[in-house]
Amino acid sequence: MSSVDIAGSILTGDQYLASLRDGREVWIDGERVADVTSHPAFRNAARSIARLYDAMHDPQQRDTLVAEDRYGIRTHRFFMPAYDTQDLLDAREAIAAWSRMSYGYMGRTPDYKASFMATLGADPDWYAPFGDSARAWYRRYAEQALFLNHVLINPPIDRHKAVHEVEDVYVHVVAERDGGMVVRGAKMLATGSALTHATFVAQNSAVQLEEGAAEDYALCFIVPMASPGVKLISRTSYEAKAVSPFDAPLSSRFDENDAVIVFDDVFVPWEDVLVYRDVKKATAFYAQSGFMPRYTLQSGTRLAVKLDFLCGLLDRGLKANGTDGFRGVQAQLGELIGWRNLIWALTTALCHDTQPGPGGSVVPAIENAVLIRQFGTQAFDVARRIFTEQLGGAPLVIPSSSRDLLSDDLRPVIDRYYRGSDGDAHDRVKLFKLIWDAMGSEFAGRHAWYEVNYSGNQEQIRLDALRFSGVRGITGRQQELVDQCLADYDLEGWTHGPWT
Ligand SMILES: Cc1cc2nc3c(=O)[nH]c(=O)nc-3n(C[C@H](O)[C@H](O)[C@H](O)COP(=O)(O)OP(=O)(O)OC[C@H]3O[C@@H](n4cnc5c(N)ncnc54)[C@H](O)[C@@H]3O)c2cc1C
Repeated sequence: MSSVDIAGSILTGDQYLASLRDGREVWIDGERVADVTSHPAFRNAARSIARLYDAMHDPQQRDTLVAEDRYGIRTHRFFMPAYDTQDLLDAREAIAAWSRMSYGYMGRTPDYKASFMATLGADPDWYAPFGDSARAWYRRYAEQALFLNHVLINPPIDRHKAVHEVEDVYVHVVAERDGGMVVRGAKMLATGSALTHATFVAQNSAVQLEEGAAEDYALCFIVPMASPGVKLISRTSYEAKAVSPFDAPLSSRFDENDAVIVFDDVFVPWEDVLVYRDVKKATAFYAQSGFMPRYTLQSGTRLAVKLDFLCGLLDRGLKANGTDGFRGVQAQLGELIGWRNLIWALTTALCHDTQPGPGGSVVPAIENAVLIRQFGTQAFDVARRIFTEQLGGAPLVIPSSSRDLLSDDLRPVIDRYYRGSDGDAHDRVKLFKLIWDAMGSEFAGRHAWYEVNYSGNQEQIRLDALRFSGVRGITGRQQELVDQCLADYDLEGWTHGPWT
């Protein structure tokens, strides 16, 4: 039996929080966390996710976020397959509405993995002989709008060896038992995993599996977080370090901790297996399941919201500094707005320019999806450069904490020397604390790493663009165009008579 069994319809925020109190094994700072919903490293992030669940029950937001799928299941609009452009546009609105609730600063909200899970509803039999697993998982997932994380990456150890030669570390099947398989190994990086219901485990597009040798590694499966043997080893928490909301307005509530997941002889029932010892399917899932073109719609929309937020922040920062009227400064704000427009435009292209997906559904054309990976991964770095150059030292012109502003002795000095060009010292310090948390803090540094890497390594992103261009016939048409040009002339002159 699978252990994610919270009966009923879409979870409320409170039901979601209650569902996390299941005995899962989460480690941080040498401590096994008793309850992630009350621990200072996870508490507020859990509540930020709970607010997303509550939004699906809010009469003001419900229709933007929720609709009925073809099976009659009411779920989040991106948790169901799309069958035309309007479905994708509606899903994008739902993704954007959720993303605005974290200003684009939570990447792995539950809609991220919906990019894959919805495809199980469209064509469960692609996973034959595990079609029934796919069917059942889609239903349970969509009905409750469950929160899944995913781990596709093998730990960065012995990358020079074949996958099946790194038996001591990489996840593989070690035994079959009645009713399922036993897996062992570690995967990275499970963003948000401490706050999810289950983890999806597979290989990403960069991984080569050797047929006849790597079958034990050729797996796709789902594991509920409280399964015996599943251990999460968390990175340091920015939420726990946040002094106050005033000092760390983003990291104090949107820190989706990244963890390494260890599978210590974990039993996985067949109901939770989608691909078993099948090299072709395990390596094809990334491109063929529809996951890749769909997840870029989620990640592109989320990035577009983040860029909207950053454009607004930069504009406010420039006004506070009194530099907003300078031509060169305006040009750099224009540059950032250009990136914002580019990413929104790409999400529009993803919705309008589609290709057949699983089971009669549609997915964004893959040659546009790769653009989100290629250009989206550059946008945050560009934004950081612009913030750094155009705001100069201003984000550091902030007193150490909110307590300085609460000090009667210091406050008159702060009021005088920290005022903005367009407002008082309180407002300026508040704004620049936010700017620092968004662009300069340790939390922001992790975002910079996230934006570059979440979609695969930078080389693979481009190799995939090349490969999909071939698959979609674009490379062939480009060659035809060159051939046509070459055929226009030869050593004797124009091949079709005078050039008129
Ligand atoms: C903040 C953050 C959150 C993340 N969250 C998740 C998550 O939730 N789920 C998940 O699955 N992953 C997650 N990741 C992992 C992410 O997907 C990977 O970091 C990314 O795919 C790059 O892979 P890598 O780290 O293994 O780097 P590598 O693949 O090791 O790439 C580093 C460099 O080495 C080169 N290289 C590596 N192998 C080879 C080779 N065989 N031949 C030639 N060159 C090679 C690459 O081209 C690249 O230049 C996250 C990463 C970060 C930073």
